[in-house]
Amino acid sequence: MSLTMKKTNILIVEDEQRLAEILKKQLEETGFNAEIAPDGYVGRQLIESGSFNLIILDINLPVINGIDLCREIRKTDRRIPIIMLTAFGTSENKITGFDAGADDYVVKPFEFKELLARINVFLRRVDENQEAEPALHIADLSMNLDTKSVIR
Ligand code: CA
Repeated sequence: MSLTMKKTNILIVEDEQRLAEILKKQLEETGFNAEIAPDGYVGRQLIESGSFNLIILDINLPVINGIDLCREIRKTDRRIPIIMLTAFGTSENKITGFDAGADDYVVKPFEFKELLARINVFLRRVDENQEAEPALHIADLSMNLDTKSVIR
């Protein structure tokens, strides 16, 4: 536990290794933590075991595709921002993605600065929701840093 700001954790679920590595590098250079899952199954495992602030999710993935994984994530987490990444830019594909619970969509090839701008929109929104009450959370304990009150 620490009082310093935790780095934002971003999960990249992408089977194109080169693209995933470039993205990870660019995100880390921007100041984020980034992890790569090379298929939908590993992606699901990492999501279940880790704590991510945002997910970048390719659609065409081995084992579990991005649409199915997105639906699964949404069964347990309705709030985590999910940005879909895909080579398919047709309206139908976009609608399928949004129906599955994606928040946004970037069509390959894209420029990193466009993806980054979209990431920042969601992270700003999450920040604003949390700003009202500066709080520390440990297991089921929550300490409000303004009032020094602790609730369980
Ligand atoms: Ca792919």
